[in-house]
Amino acid sequence: MSAERRRILVTNDDGIYSEGIKLLAEALAEVGEVVVVAPDREQSATSHSLTLHRPLRIRQLDENQWVVDGTPTDCVNLGVLHLFKDRPPDLVASGINFGSNLGDDVTYSGTVSATFEASLLGIPSIAFSQQVGEHFSFAPGARFARRMVAELFGTELPPDLLLNVNFPAGEPRGVAFSKLGRRIYQQSIVEKLDPRGRKYYWIAGTPEFKEEEGTDFAAIDRGQISITPLHLDLTDYRGLETFGPLEGRLRRITGPAEPMAAAEPAPAGGGAPAGGGAAAGAGRSPGGGEG
Ligand code: MN
Repeated sequence: MSAERRRILVTNDDGIYSEGIKLLAEALAEVGEVVVVAPDREQSATSHSLTLHRPLRIRQLDENQWVVDGTPTDCVNLGVLHLFKDRPPDLVASGINFGSNLGDDVTYSGTVSATFEASLLGIPSIAFSQQVGEHFSFAPGARFARRMVAELFGTELPPDLLLNVNFPAGEPRGVAFSKLGRRIYQQSIVEKLDPRGRKYYWIAGTPEFKEEEGTDFAAIDRGQISITPLHLDLTDYRGLETFGPLEGRLRRITGPAEPMAAAEPAPAGGGAPAGGGAAAGAGRSPGGGEG
């Protein structure tokens, strides 16, 4: 290990008093200098929410623990841009969340969003979540997190490193790199009547997942630790190709008056103007390899 211990900012969305963050901070303190900046209460499913419409307060609890009355994203921001601006953390670790963050659920997750924020700030990050089930314990996950971070610190970490790690309930049976699975939501809105006879709604239901090999769901199902590398570029690159031909058509409807006039016979004729459109488009080379 280098002379200067690497700094690890630990945060979560279950709040600073949760057991998962306590065990993660303790485990990572063996491989680096841990600073905890976490929400003062549960912020699960707050996603990538950033508090902009009220002031935030930071309270230092002890030498290396700060509590914020905000979201996980607020915590990462205040940690990186304020508390540790003189020497930003080398890694942001989020968790260990009570409950897994698999498949589409990462888009709701405060745990994972803390790592999105780290990524935006150019800091490598890892989200850790623990499946709830038989033989529940944070201990095996915390142990793995310590070894994993020690291993990663032996290499040069790319600033956009963003790993979503899920631990199965019980003792893990190996590790698998995986892609995000897809959830299937069933009967997810419950409608009831309040005491005044007005309807109200709960977002509920029993989520299931599509069975598909290579997904994080499948790995957890097999009792493996699942690791999914994520990135924040939400561009659909296949879509750029698939929807590319639409560009020429949309250009016609947004263009100046004259091309509109030329396109006028379109509903009646069909074929001819379409050909003209394609030719016009070809001039600008929509078929080029840029997509
Ligand atoms: Mn949570």
